[in-house]
Amino acid sequence: MITFTYRYKIKPTKQQLKQFEQYLDICRSVYNYAHAERKAWLESRKSKVDRCSIVSEYIIRHDKPFPSYNAQAKALTEAKKRLPYLKLVNAQCLQQVLKRLDKAWTDFFKIPERGFPRFRTKNRFRSFVFPQLGKNCLDKGKVKLPSIGWIKIRQSRAYPVGFQPKQFQVVKRASGYYLMINFQSSEVVPDPIPGEKSLGIDAGISNFLATSNQELIKSPKFLRSKLKKLRKLQRQLKNKTKGSNNWLKLQNKIAKFHEKVSNARRDWLFKLAHHLCDKTDNIFVENINYKSWSRGICRKQSLDSGIGSFMNEILPMVCWKRNKFYLKVDKDYSSQECPNCRLFTGKKTLNQRIHSCQFCNIEIERDYASSLIIQQRGQTAVGQPVGYKEMACGGRGAGVLQFTLFDLVTA
Ligand SMILES: [Zn+2]
Repeated sequence: MITFTYRYKIKPTKQQLKQFEQYLDICRSVYNYAHAERKAWLESRKSKVDRCSIVSEYIIRHDKPFPSYNAQAKALTEAKKRLPYLKLVNAQCLQQVLKRLDKAWTDFFKIPERGFPRFRTKNRFRSFVFPQLGKNCLDKGKVKLPSIGWIKIRQSRAYPVGFQPKQFQVVKRASGYYLMINFQSSEVVPDPIPGEKSLGIDAGISNFLATSNQELIKSPKFLRSKLKKLRKLQRQLKNKTKGSNNWLKLQNKIAKFHEKVSNARRDWLFKLAHHLCDKTDNIFVENINYKSWSRGICRKQSLDSGIGSFMNEILPMVCWKRNKFYLKVDKDYSSQECPNCRLFTGKKTLNQRIHSCQFCNIEIERDYASSLIIQQRGQTAVGQPVGYKEMACGGRGAGVLQFTLFDLVTA
């Protein structure tokens, strides 16, 4: 089974806009109510039966079970009889809200680091889902939402052929409403198999990444170059009264700005992924946990370039689409091994940009050297002969191409 998510901008009428706001409000109130119910149950179980404390009290009967998803879904149906405004929202949409809450809770118990689920403010509740769609709900430039009806969209790309729409999600962003359509196809496509040409990719520190094809791709400093403008906007925000009309306007402007930057970044990352796929059959990367990586020294650079989502999400997806083989290889000591003689040359400090081997006297760019190591490890993993390259000794980073954003976009 293959799934794709396509995103389209919605062009709602005033009436539909109002309806979307209403949906978000009602869904959010259901979410918060259900969350409060669960929380109260949990609190009441923290206190002993015969005690009374300030923090938690045994206010819920001892035989009342935990409000699970099923119990809450049932209670919701009951509540609709008393509260007619709940009927303004598509029934399945509301159930999806309870599912979302249930997921937040189970996630928390599985991975406590994620934090305890919170009540949602308007800013933290920005989407709702239609899990089931009617027949023939797609047309040119318009889409039929259950209970709401036809809405116009800006059809920036054609719907995929041979796929069925399975789910709609309406998302509110700073620049307006968007529709995420989940397409599915039951066709089974075999995973790509390793080909002839291999490429190792290393996430660099001064470069965004380095490849074993001698390309150093510079980090797109989207946020940093635009930081100046952002700072100016945020300074202006200080002079406005919080909550006033002008304050809200400026807030919205800042949110739009952030959205623009993230769109530009995403676009660049996809272009880069295709660029890498153009030149090879197999792509090897390190299995780094980029989350902990970005907490350390490389924080600023890696956060604004999005290396983690590139290596773990975008690149594998593009590889799959282009029928290229993608594999993660062992990350250990990739910066300490020499790609020429494969001996360990010892630890490097962060500002040491050149790999120079005391055994074979080779001197090459550090990131390029580790990308070669990754390529060799990948080739070993898929059972290919490891091709050692002829390396020019002596020249510091000789023959290495430096790429920037603009080289790639025009290419
Ligand atoms: Zn060496």
